[in-house]
Amino acid sequence: MEELRQEIWEMPILDSHEHIGSIPSTGGAAGIPGFNEDVYPGFEPGPTTIFDLILSPYLGGLLNSLGFKMPMTHTRDTAGQQEQLWKALIPFLNKARGTGLYMALDKAFDGLYGASLGDILNGSRDWKALSRAVEYNYQRGLYKWSGEIFKRLKIQYAIKPVHLPYIGAMGKQDNNDSYILEQNLFLPVFRVDDLLGYPDQASICGWKHLTGLMDIEVHEIRDLDDMVSKAFIMLKENNIRAIKQLQAYTRPLRFKKVERDRAASALKRTLGNGDPMSKIEVQDYIMGLILERANKTKLPFQVHSGMANLPDSNPVLLRDSIERYPEVNFILLHCYPYLSEAAFLARSYRNVYLDTAWLALQSPALLYKALDEWIGFVPYSKICLSGDATSVEECYGAMEMTREALSCVLHNKIRKGELDRELAFMIARSLLHDNAAALYAAG
Ligand SMILES: [Zn+2]
Repeated sequence: MEELRQEIWEMPILDSHEHIGSIPSTGGAAGIPGFNEDVYPGFEPGPTTIFDLILSPYLGGLLNSLGFKMPMTHTRDTAGQQEQLWKALIPFLNKARGTGLYMALDKAFDGLYGASLGDILNGSRDWKALSRAVEYNYQRGLYKWSGEIFKRLKIQYAIKPVHLPYIGAMGKQDNNDSYILEQNLFLPVFRVDDLLGYPDQASICGWKHLTGLMDIEVHEIRDLDDMVSKAFIMLKENNIRAIKQLQAYTRPLRFKKVERDRAASALKRTLGNGDPMSKIEVQDYIMGLILERANKTKLPFQVHSGMANLPDSNPVLLRDSIERYPEVNFILLHCYPYLSEAAFLARSYRNVYLDTAWLALQSPALLYKALDEWIGFVPYSKICLSGDATSVEECYGAMEMTREALSCVLHNKIRKGELDRELAFMIARSLLHDNAAALYAAG
């Protein structure tokens, strides 16, 4: 077991899904749901403390679900406000102990800063000293700091979903030192959500965020066709190798084939009175345009599944799309609680892959369960590993838990006589690196 674990700790990683920089100090982007990090190349967050890491969308969300509310001041600018916030957080962080999200930061603080979350919660180490160390590392630059951590973790690249304005600006960053560092660490993939329209106050489907970027205003069906063609030209010009979507959390994953005429009248209704059924038809039409192009250019497609909006995020709902676009490799992210359904799809269809994104951060046991079930049923060339973390510290914890779970699962299978040592090593190398390298042609 020790030998296997050591080997796995030495293997390079191609981390197939990360959201590093999605923390409060980065700030939300204007007009697009998401963080500035995914909209502007090389974006550096403002002053960052442990509170930005603890109050990330994930762990912060978990603490909120336990009843945590930001203290009255709503800021943490002064030492007094920070003290008040820390005191307010202690009971909630204690309740979050044992969850994957807690463990990730606990491990990262311990490994990177020499004081775990447990140490500062029980008062044996000073939380202020840890927070100052975090602040210092972020001041030096997120990408510099990420590069140092990636080197320790042996992460060659991480795949990062970005919005269209990011892609449009990629070619104009000659003097952006942060972007030069970012480029060596992250491989951008396009979030097609931008094309499916965001809700805004004027209409149900909104594309205003693209007006400046593409010179498009959506009034009729031709505008949607133009919008998708222009976006794919941008992808080609900037050598974007994959697409990604978040639709599972706002609508059912079943995308039906909608003819152009039908979509044209649905668009009219959508822009007119905002009828929700028409919006789904318009989105289905746009997704058809996107997937036709992805099919022609063989772009892989990362799709969120499970975790929220059940049962509409069940990956089984993608079956029609999987069959209709055989040249698109569908990579199913998360999958929980549909681990078995996802595995069955990956086992049945040549163009379906699995990605453990977010599982370690939910609970190492979920990741263990997925790997234990998938390896042996799904060919190992179809499984990728990733953290789906909001901060580079969370990524550190997620990758530690991932390596640990992989070591345990493979060790168990060797012990039971299901795998020999050599095959176990090959499976580890494939899951950690080679499968993602082949899928995203990332070397
Ligand atoms: Zn994601």
